[in-house]
Amino acid sequence: MLNLTDSIGAIGHIPPKHINELRKLGINTVSDLLFYLPYRYEDFSNLVNISDIKEGQNVTVKAKIIDIRGYPGFAGRANRAEAVVSDQSGSMKIVWFNQSYLAKNLKKGQEIFISGSVKPNGALQMYNPIHEKAASAESVEGQIHTARIVPIYRFTYNLRLRTLRTIIYKCINSAPEIKEYLPAETIKSLGLQDINTTIKNLHFPLNAEALKQAKKRRAFEEIFFVQLAVQKNKLSLQNKNAPMIGFDKSLVTEFLSTLPFQLTLDQKRALWDILQDIQKDRPMNRLLEGDVGSGKTLVAFIAALEAINRGYAAVMLCPTEILASQHYQNAIKYFENYTGFDIILLTSKSKKINGRNVGKKTLLQEIERGGARFIITTHAALEKNVKLKNVALVIIDEQHRFGVKQRANILEKSPKARPHMLSMSATPIPRSLKLTLFGDLEMSQIKHLPPGRKKIITKLVPQEKRELAYEFISKQLQAGRQAFVVTPLIDESDSLGVKAATSERENLQKIFTEYRVGLLHGRMKSAEKEKVMSDFLSGKSHVLVSTSIIEVGVDVPNATIMLIEGAERFGLAQLHQFRGRVGRSEHQSYCFVFSETANLSACERLEKFSKTSDGFELAEIDLHTRGFGNLFGEEQSGFHYFNYFSYSEHKELAKDAASLAKKILLEDPGLENHPQLKSKIANTIIHLE
Ligand code: ADP
Ligand code: MG
Repeated sequence: MLNLTDSIGAIGHIPPKHINELRKLGINTVSDLLFYLPYRYEDFSNLVNISDIKEGQNVTVKAKIIDIRGYPGFAGRANRAEAVVSDQSGSMKIVWFNQSYLAKNLKKGQEIFISGSVKPNGALQMYNPIHEKAASAESVEGQIHTARIVPIYRFTYNLRLRTLRTIIYKCINSAPEIKEYLPAETIKSLGLQDINTTIKNLHFPLNAEALKQAKKRRAFEEIFFVQLAVQKNKLSLQNKNAPMIGFDKSLVTEFLSTLPFQLTLDQKRALWDILQDIQKDRPMNRLLEGDVGSGKTLVAFIAALEAINRGYAAVMLCPTEILASQHYQNAIKYFENYTGFDIILLTSKSKKINGRNVGKKTLLQEIERGGARFIITTHAALEKNVKLKNVALVIIDEQHRFGVKQRANILEKSPKARPHMLSMSATPIPRSLKLTLFGDLEMSQIKHLPPGRKKIITKLVPQEKRELAYEFISKQLQAGRQAFVVTPLIDESDSLGVKAATSERENLQKIFTEYRVGLLHGRMKSAEKEKVMSDFLSGKSHVLVSTSIIEVGVDVPNATIMLIEGAERFGLAQLHQFRGRVGRSEHQSYCFVFSETANLSACERLEKFSKTSDGFELAEIDLHTRGFGNLFGEEQSGFHYFNYFSYSEHKELAKDAASLAKKILLEDPGLENHPQLKSKIANTIIHLE
């Protein structure tokens, strides 16, 4: 008897070289093989007589080979096999290109199934159809590659798709039962397929409806496991100790009195939420959401000040060096009257204490010493040799730019007491998604920008008006303003978009001859990047051409133009981030959007973008048109988790999953009585904030 944990070698009749290929696919055990699911299907279940074949339709016929010949392909003729097949209704010709060997495999008089389609307006013949010998004389039973809904697997390495399919088919027929891991009553009340039926139907569906039900069960599982993991994580956080930071009101009041402006109402509310949380001995886990330019940084700084004031370290994690150094400069400025603590910058290229450059060793020692300090840093802090100490608060700026593991990593550096965590994001999480995916996540929002900001005027510019746009920009430059130009990725080989940005810079330098055009891209050394940014900030350069790295955070109040090339290649939430780079001063700002597509839905999306300045609304549109992945970016690996669950299709399932997770955890918070569920979610990547 086969076991699920048996190695695939135990299945029998699989040649060693195929076993090797399966291993490359990550398939080591019987269970791995059963759960190696197709990514799409070809429907060849429509069995017809030859005389009933309709052009352009996928069909299957069962026919006898009347004649078959192979042509090896010389004298300019293609290598091919040609056959004539017939059933009781008629006959047709078949050509298999590059498969002359078929003439040896298939014999005159044999009965075969042929699956494929006849080209519209063609003669009654098929090119390169799928063929399969008839397994039984009377029925379609036993057919693997034809006469059914046929599974297509995405990766097969050097295995032929047919070989993989056959291996899985045989395995399913001799496979042991998979033990059901969803509660029986859930299966019953939601009318879900059991796991064994599901796996069978996902590989070799009985019919379209059975496949649909199998996918639904899988979608439920996916969202259920995420819910279970998220909620379990939340429960376990409530049992962890965190440093009690306290709330020194006079400290906050005094700091605020040094600012040239007042906090907005939303900022005050967010700050209040945070200061309440960090007084407790349970770790804060809060997301601060607010549009670009809404003033999240300042709120985070004040929370940091409270932590530092109590003798702790506060760490601010930034996704780019540019952003880290910008925050660093701001921190030095904001805290210039505070001499009681050090402000540290740690990135892979820059190491500073209170504005002075220091060596790496000195800096690491200084950090390890612990005590009251503000450490502003990037991924560099995740390295092993960075030993954080006494950290009471971790601030993660632009949290969606960090992988889930990285965020966990920084917290794990403080094993004794878990630091309070404040994540910040300008990518608004749509309300609908929040409820279904994030459970009852703690969240503060800054909905309104500081007063005095003018609305950014957004225009979709047709190519023929490009000149006019440049003239307009010239006038702005003349008036002393500055402009950003963002270029998209143009091809795969240029994964950072360096080529597009570089040539656009040259191009624009020729147009704006009297001005300096700078260039910023991800392949530049960090010192170069900083130089470029500081030149732009100080007004030494006037136009800045950049790849999408400009998206995050950068603050240049004098810039009033954001010109975006190839805008159709970006998500709306991302475009909104670009746009947020401008409109940061009392001057009227503009966003010019160029696209190279005539695609109607892309144009509609851009049209929406030009009319809407509400980040939440744009994120909601992104969610429905482009899915999770695009909304949160590549790094948000948690979202690659969904193969079957789709927000728009499975709203109700998501609700059911959430309440089931809650119910189970209420009785069994550690899942000790649900070992299968516990192991299922052990590998589920979740959001920490
Ligand atoms: P973001 O939310 O995108 O991180 P920032 O924190 O960078 O936004 O703030 C954008 C700009 O607004 C900064 O220059 C900051 O000094 C300024 N700012 C923050 N809060 C206020 C306020 N209450 N009134 C006026 N300006 C503010
Ligand atoms: Mg910011």
